[in-house]
Parts: sequence; structure tokens; C-alpha cells
Amino acid sequence: MIKRRKTREIKIGNVGIGGDNPVRVQSMCNTDTRNVDATVAQINELAGAGCEIVRIAVPDTAAAAVLSDIHEQAKVPLVADIHFDYRLALAAVEAGIEGLRINPGNIGGPKKVDAVVSAALEHGVPIRIGVNGGSLEKSLLSKYGGPTPEAMVESALGHVDMLEKRGFSDIKISLKSSSVLNTVAAYRLLAEKVDYPQHIGITEAGTLVRGTVKSSVGLGILLWEGLGDTMRVSLTHDPVVEVGVAWEILRSLGLRERGPEIVSCPTCGRTEIDLIGLAQQVEEELRGIEDVFTVAVMGCVVNGPGEAKEADIGIAGGKDLGIIFRKGEVLRKVHGNENLLPEFMKEIEKFLEEKRGK
Ligand code: SF4
Repeated sequence: MIKRRKTREIKIGNVGIGGDNPVRVQSMCNTDTRNVDATVAQINELAGAGCEIVRIAVPDTAAAAVLSDIHEQAKVPLVADIHFDYRLALAAVEAGIEGLRINPGNIGGPKKVDAVVSAALEHGVPIRIGVNGGSLEKSLLSKYGGPTPEAMVESALGHVDMLEKRGFSDIKISLKSSSVLNTVAAYRLLAEKVDYPQHIGITEAGTLVRGTVKSSVGLGILLWEGLGDTMRVSLTHDPVVEVGVAWEILRSLGLRERGPEIVSCPTCGRTEIDLIGLAQQVEEELRGIEDVFTVAVMGCVVNGPGEAKEADIGIAGGKDLGIIFRKGEVLRKVHGNENLLPEFMKEIEKFLEEKRGK
């Protein structure tokens, strides 16, 4: 059982982070923010996949100018990601955006920090300080000899100090590095220093397999230790997939659940069907379903039902014959491999109707 570290609570719109809230799932749009339709479509697709807060880049005034349009149509709270130009932060807050990601030390002096802080205070908008190992201050790099965890934490605390001095404490912090071990060490160290909520992630994690592994290991360690109040899995891939991976990480640690868990056997010499294809088709068919249940897709009728007896519902395929089972008990046989998927989906629908009716 994971005992989560108690942090302060902040709110991005109506979504609570830290305190007693569950670990929140976030992602970031990869559309051109100036393209309102594409950005809104992606935000809402992410929301449908279980993303609770979406970050969008605001690189220039043209992007800032369309924020209120985007905000009006977004189904979840938004965070504006801003580097350097404090006027973009002011525009984002005016547009109703619920959160800012901006580092006060990088926006060009105390007056500009004052302006951002007073706008954020006035609108109740939290600020995420996001330290990235790849863009640390030169002074810290030479003091520590590189982007070490200590350097990252000192950088974050410097930004925190600028906000606290202005009476601002609606803060969350991220310390991202592409090194799993440095990231873990940095968040641990930060947790000893301040109780602001932590936004955890492994940055530039890579393409689908590599990025999923690095994120799962890094975020898995942190979450297991009770750290992390909100998380983003970063992949060089469709951000909707990032959301799915984040939920699987949370599910595998028993922290949160959403949608069906699909278990499937690794296949072996007894497999007599295209199990990889069938498992992928089942996954596709179940996309978007929020009910929590376990589905098994197994490669042989002899061992499949027994091996997957914990599953709520499952299918085991053989040579032109499949068996649909519930909790290891055979429900019925299906003849003809082309009938496996449609018949299985019918049984899943029945199962869900019963489950929802209870
Ligand atoms: S369920 Fe059957 S096909 Fe799949 S790994 Fe087990 S024995 Fe092999």
C-alpha cells in the first residue's frame, strides 16, 4: 500500500492537485496553438482519454490572441506554457486560462515578475515552476559541475523564493531530466525542502517503447515512494497515448483505475490463432470505455481460461474455435475465427449492462 506524501493543495480550475486529491493525469497538445480547431479537437480528445489538465504552448502573441477561443471550447482546465515573455502570461490569465507554467527567474526582472504575480493572484491562477536539467542557469551548472539533482532543486527554490517574496504560494514544481536516476533523486531532495505539490515526469523520454519504459520506471519509483501529485508521461508520439500510459502506470501501482484492463498471454507453441491481431482489435473496440473491469485475450482453449481465471470476461482462441469465459468458467463456444471478435464484443456488452445495472 502506497502512503502518499502530504502536500499543499492547489487548484487548476476545478481540478484539485496535492492535498488529498488523487494523482492527476496531464498531457500537452502538440498542435499549433494558433490553429484553434485542431487544438480544441486535441484537448477534447485528450480529455476523453482521461486527461484531467491539458497544457498548451503559447510561443507568441498570435497564440495568446486565440487562447480565450480555445478556453471556451475546452472540456478540461488548461495550463499555458510560457517561456520568457511575461506579456504572454498576462494575456493567458486574462483569457481565463486556469494555470501558468512559467519560471519567474527567466522573464526579465522584478517588475515583470510583479506583474505576473499580481495577475495570477487576482485570477486565482497557480504557477508551475518547471526546471529542466537541459536549461539550468549557467551559475548552477558551474557550481555543481553539471545538471545534478542538487542544481535542479536549487534552481527551483530560487524561483519559489521570488514568488514567495511576493506573497504567492499557489505553486507546483516540476524537475525534469531525461535521466531517470537524476529525476528521481531531484524529486526526493525537493520533497525534503518544500511541501508544494510535485508535477512529475521524465522529459525527452523518447519514442513509444523507450519512452514508456523510462517513464514507467521513473514515475513508478516516485509514485511508489508516495511522491508526485500530478504526472505527465512524455513520449515522441500521439499525446493521447501518453494519457493511456499514465493511467496504466497508476493502475499497476493500485493508485487509480480507469477503463478496462486487457490482459493477454505472451503466446507460445500452443497458439493457434492470430492472438496479437485479436488483442489489438479488442483493445481498439474497448477504447473510450470508462468502466473498470478485466478482459483476457488468450491463445489456446486448453490453458487460456484457467490461466486467466481472474479476468471478469475473456476469450481463448483455438483452431476455428473460441471459448468465451467469465472468471475461468466457460460461457460458450464460438465457431469460426471470423466470429470471435463480434461474438466476444456482444458478451462484453452484456457483461457491462449487467455490471452497470447493479
Ligand atoms: S494461454 Fe495457451 S497459448 Fe497462451 S501462453 Fe498459455 S499455453 Fe500458450
